Amino acid sequence: MFFCSYPTRFYSLDAPSVPLTGPQAAALERFRTGMNEGLYALEPAPCICGSEDGVLLARRDRYGLEVDTYLCRHCGVLRTSPRLSPESLSRFYDSDYREIYGGEETASDAFFAEQIAHGRSILDSVLHNIAGDLAGAVVFDVGCGAGGVLIPFRESGCLVYGCDHGGRYLEYGRSQGLRLEHGGAAELKQHGKAKVVILSHVLEHFPDPRAELALLSSLLEDDGYLYIELPGVFNIHNVYRDFLLYLQNAHLYHFTLSTLSSLLADAGFQLVFGYENVVALFKKGSGRPVQVGKREYAKVLCYLYSVELSRLAIFRKLPQLVARIIGWTYKRAW
Ligand SMILES: [Zn+2]
Repeated sequence: MFFCSYPTRFYSLDAPSVPLTGPQAAALERFRTGMNEGLYALEPAPCICGSEDGVLLARRDRYGLEVDTYLCRHCGVLRTSPRLSPESLSRFYDSDYREIYGGEETASDAFFAEQIAHGRSILDSVLHNIAGDLAGAVVFDVGCGAGGVLIPFRESGCLVYGCDHGGRYLEYGRSQGLRLEHGGAAELKQHGKAKVVILSHVLEHFPDPRAELALLSSLLEDDGYLYIELPGVFNIHNVYRDFLLYLQNAHLYHFTLSTLSSLLADAGFQLVFGYENVVALFKKGSGRPVQVGKREYAKVLCYLYSVELSRLAIFRKLPQLVARIIGWTYKRAW
């Protein structure tokens, strides 16, 4: 057992650990029924480094669904295995995903407004870190939902396009005059090459991140940028306070800034800026490789122990201390 202090919490299938609204509970039940009736197929998943090895950290997610999470001993990446097959994932995203995760079947005005505000902060941080401006540039948002993130870019003179598997959210964005495609990043090829591609809380959903990054690289201009946000492993305590609340069946891989940078370096991207929450901007072009290995595995394990121990009042500040030590190491590396 990994978590010696509270071993059973992560291994027993139980009621959801998060409060659910009526529509969320109904969608969760519908998904469970679909699983039981064989509507969804599962497949084993190796780590992105190719290893099939790993430490089993948990057998359930925050919704009480049967989700096995492994930590790779070779590179420190966490993964869900088995997971939904690509076809089953498409079905899940087009049917129950939004309702289980957001409690709403279609995008609301408030959701779209939040997306626009989020888009402003993305635009600010991109402009702050690239040479020149983005007037006339093509911008793609992959996994755009209703596409609100693209609005501030459009207002800045960019040509904006998005794609998503959730048809009902796309309809809302189209009603706002956005050009949004139903499907994955390949659907954006028809719009030429982009200066900026946005992946906001999307990369962790890809069954094959390496293949997707190769595709995204082909969609980018030679001097293009890839903006990535995802829930960073070393930020779990700040957001969730509990590793169990962080786990969800749609997240197939979990990254630290180092493991993400290593993956991106392999795909031909170099880090421009990045934080452990994770928010990061990468520039197309090869730089030096980023080494991760057993050391990263040990750091992640150490951090997750500290998060679990912080459930005891006496250790409640331990994760911040561990994260600070780890953060110092990263600053030194870059
Ligand atoms: Zn690995």
